[in-house]
Amino acid sequence: MDFDFPPHDDPRRLVVRAWLAEHPEPTGRALAEAGYVAPHWPAPWGLDADPIHQIIVDEELAAAGVKRPSNQIGIGWAGPTILHAGTQEQKERYLFPLLAGEEIWCQLFSEPGAGSDLANLGTRAVRDGDEWVVNGQKIWTSLAHHSAFGILIARTDPDVAKHQGITYFICPMDAEGIEIRPIIEMTGGHTFNEVFLTDVRIPDANRVGDVHGGWSLAKVTLGNERVSLSSGGALWGMGPAASDLLDEVRGGGGCDDPVRRDHLAQLHIEAELLRLIRLRTVTARIRGEQPGPEASIRKILADEHGQRIMELAKDLAGPHGMLEHQRAGGAPDLWGWHWGYLFSPALTVGGGTGDVQRNIVAERVLGLPHDIDVEAGRSWADARRG
Ligand SMILES: Cc1cc2nc3c(=O)[nH]c(=O)nc-3n(C[C@H](O)[C@H](O)[C@H](O)COP(=O)(O)OP(=O)(O)OC[C@H]3O[C@@H](n4cnc5c(N)ncnc54)[C@H](O)[C@@H]3O)c2cc1C
Repeated sequence: MDFDFPPHDDPRRLVVRAWLAEHPEPTGRALAEAGYVAPHWPAPWGLDADPIHQIIVDEELAAAGVKRPSNQIGIGWAGPTILHAGTQEQKERYLFPLLAGEEIWCQLFSEPGAGSDLANLGTRAVRDGDEWVVNGQKIWTSLAHHSAFGILIARTDPDVAKHQGITYFICPMDAEGIEIRPIIEMTGGHTFNEVFLTDVRIPDANRVGDVHGGWSLAKVTLGNERVSLSSGGALWGMGPAASDLLDEVRGGGGCDDPVRRDHLAQLHIEAELLRLIRLRTVTARIRGEQPGPEASIRKILADEHGQRIMELAKDLAGPHGMLEHQRAGGAPDLWGWHWGYLFSPALTVGGGTGDVQRNIVAERVLGLPHDIDVEAGRSWADARRG
């Protein structure tokens, strides 16, 4: 790490503080129009902020207790892709409502036969005048049931190499022919869905980028990561972190068992390593370098670290750990840990599995031979390689 944090009276901090004084409880729309939701985006949607400026805005909003709108797929993935390849009309129509959290977005990428090998997707889009007619099935679509739009990739030319005949669309989720079926997770929650598309008509105006040019845009979508210093909770930024588990143990009078003490120490060491890897990534971005394979290394370590935290929490909870929610008799509130324990297997699957991340490290860091290339196609690993 070789950067200094901007001082308390940095003029860029003063600008944010003055705005917050005028907007003590800003709406999502106000934050979006001020450029504070995605400061690294170009004006008028962002501030063209460099990494240090982004960190300043993050810190000032956090200090004022202001939360940004929650629209992870919209702000994290759809927006940057529209900025990169969308038309001016698309930018004007979609970006502010997306930043303001007024229109939630989902990602219609994975299919029953296309996850790690995403380019194997079978959903078809056939041109009919000014429209495309889409038929197929998507799966694991987080938040489809709350979404106004989905970013959709579909096969538009089945007669070329599989990664060449794919086109990228904005799909209105209330279009006729879309059926959303819930998938209930073992946490008891409902985030995922299956999405069936039957003769769904999407205007050509909703196409992003060139016809058959969707694979390179999918790479833009998947490669997007903002600069952020806080890694948050151990479940992809959600939920508790190793330090919370240590606090629970300290608050409960400590731990005498030598094996568990050793596990707790290991978790603390892993959390520190992850923090330092994150700072190294931020340093690289400040130098203007693009994220490299260290993002895969961090993902492997962070996801397995999250699983170990949740396993140890369950173990430490003893018999209480068998209950979903326990607060009686002075026992700690286990709900967050219980939910985290049940969610944590998803960490090493979503966003590119741990195996696929290892393939990337094997090829790009260790120089080992390429993953098996079925039908001369390319895999999700290729998409994540950028
Ligand atoms: C919490 C969560 C949220 C998600 N949200 C979305 C969403 O909103 N939209 C969306 O489109 N998708 C979403 N997904 C789906 C996710 O992208 C896929 O689950 C993921 O890409 C893996 O694909 P798959 O499930 O088809 O598994 P597969 O690709 O079938 O993999 C099965 C097993 O084979 C292994 N494997 C596969 N290929 C290789 C290889 N080349 N080398 C070594 N091992 C390999 C995998 O590691 C895995 O263990 C989400 C998943 C999760 C867990």
